[in-house]
Amino acid sequence: MSQKLKKNSNSEVQVSSPVFNYKCGYCEKTFMSEYRYVMHTCKEKVRWELLSTILGQNALKYYECWHKMCNRVPPHASTFLVSTYFQSFVTFAEFVKNVKLPNPSHYMRIMIEKKLQPPSWTRDDVYVMFIETMDNAKDPIEHITISLSTILNFCEKADLTPVEFFQYLTPPELAQLIRQRHLSPWLLLNSSLFKNYLLLCNESDQQLLEVVIRPDFWKQKFLANPDGVKKAKKYIKELGF
Ligand SMILES: [Zn+2]
Repeated sequence: MSQKLKKNSNSEVQVSSPVFNYKCGYCEKTFMSEYRYVMHTCKEKVRWELLSTILGQNALKYYECWHKMCNRVPPHASTFLVSTYFQSFVTFAEFVKNVKLPNPSHYMRIMIEKKLQPPSWTRDDVYVMFIETMDNAKDPIEHITISLSTILNFCEKADLTPVEFFQYLTPPELAQLIRQRHLSPWLLLNSSLFKNYLLLCNESDQQLLEVVIRPDFWKQKFLANPDGVKKAKKYIKELGF
């Protein structure tokens, strides 16, 4: 081989090493062609770019908050970028936005109490568990008050009277508010207005609402708390619901 090269060099043929003029500032991979460099993407680059978005900033905020809640010093953003929890916190930030979680730090506190690690926080069964914890923790009047403020805010924006609320919303819109516990089964299942609404829904809409409300679960809860039901019914009647 070296013989051949020497021969070639005698006949003035140049043999040079490849030149890597382009380097990715994120993963340090080098490239010979500008096109390949521009087209290159890597996990590090994607993460840095994501961190400059609102979603990425929220993910970082929740990651820092989680460390503080676990009595640890929050690491630097560059540590977050290489963390095995990076994607979990991005998914959690998306989840907070999608379910309109009213108090993310309260949610995280419950996750820590239940010894659940960030990758499991956005699972459906975990969210259901959180809702149940919330449902069990509060007084019925508190649930009804939250529901009432949801209804009043909505009616004010839509220029409706509160008793027109159920006529105005579609079953999927209602289901969403129930999922987020902006409307509580404490109000709905003790309200004659809601019962009338349900009767007027078609079968698939009734099923949709039953899946999110879970009437059997609530029946057991109401049986276990007759005083709460009495108080709730009296309050709801006074409100005209
Ligand atoms: Zn790269």
